[in-house]
Amino acid sequence: MNVEAQSFKGRQRDLFIQPEQESIMSDSPISSCERPLILVHGGAYDIPESAHKAHLDGCTAAARAGFAVLSQGGSALDAVEAAVRVMEDDPTFDAGFGSFLNADGEVELDAIIMNGATLNFGSVAAVQRIKNPVSLARMVMDNTRHCMLAGNGAFQFADKMGIKPCRTQDLLHGRERERWEKARSGQTDQYDEFGNPLHSMPSDTVGAVAVDRNGNIAGATSTGGTFNKLPGRVGDSPLVGCGCYADNLSGAASSTGQGEAFMKIVACKTACDLMQSGMTAQEAAEATIARLGERTNGKGGLIVLSPAGGIGVAHNCRNIAYAVHAGDNVFHTGIANSD
Ligand code: ASP
Repeated sequence: MNVEAQSFKGRQRDLFIQPEQESIMSDSPISSCERPLILVHGGAYDIPESAHKAHLDGCTAAARAGFAVLSQGGSALDAVEAAVRVMEDDPTFDAGFGSFLNADGEVELDAIIMNGATLNFGSVAAVQRIKNPVSLARMVMDNTRHCMLAGNGAFQFADKMGIKPCRTQDLLHGRERERWEKARSGQTDQYDEFGNPLHSMPSDTVGAVAVDRNGNIAGATSTGGTFNKLPGRVGDSPLVGCGCYADNLSGAASSTGQGEAFMKIVACKTACDLMQSGMTAQEAAEATIARLGERTNGKGGLIVLSPAGGIGVAHNCRNIAYAVHAGDNVFHTGIANSD
């Protein structure tokens, strides 16, 4: 089989978001779509009403940026990078600018990008002072013999690649400084004595999956991780198969939620394997989230793309923000609600 560009015809069997499933509710179902296509997410948790518009706008802008690449004949890889960069620059999300602070008051970022044609991927973990870690992850993939760089090594590699470090302040949004200061001074009952969240915290990791005109698939995920995490903590997002996966033969997925839980079930690879074994994208997304809940009690959501361009969105927390773009006639953005 030609892995580079599988035939698209004859495999269009799951080109929809099902509106009435228990674990996924879509306010406006998509009944059809065409290749190329990009699907992005901007976090999954109990997104407050006051933040819905910002999430929808951010996802919309990202999907449009990614689709602009695809519509000009660009690759799925370039499209997911472009989409994720838009969300890294948007302080609405826990990625790049606007990320959570760790226990030391630093921003430490994780990101991954994966090429489904070759299974090559690049990722960075716990890297500081990098404005767009998804692009650094891309450089790891394109310019090293490694797949993943962490911490200071990733930072030094960025320097070699000519990426100017930003200041920590450039990544720091006032909202997050306030959240951190409140937690540190015990002015909130949201954290236990060790600073661990007691209640559901925002889960605003961003991600994208895309298929291009040639049938090549890619995925990317970027995050500031969890609030008040221990310095050096790495979540699921930059781990291949956990926070992201892409394979022309089985599809792509990107997740958001409690990283320690997603890692345990290797969530994104699980979703792709389920598609390869015959499930539609939506069925695979739901089965993966069901497994997450049953086996780990974890919460979150994920987006899934089948090689045919079928899409799935599932979550077991209240909301997931997403947008899909497959041309002027197929654009949809939503905050899926499980109420
Ligand atoms: N999954 C991310 C992590 O655990 C957090 C998130 O999705 O919000 O680092």
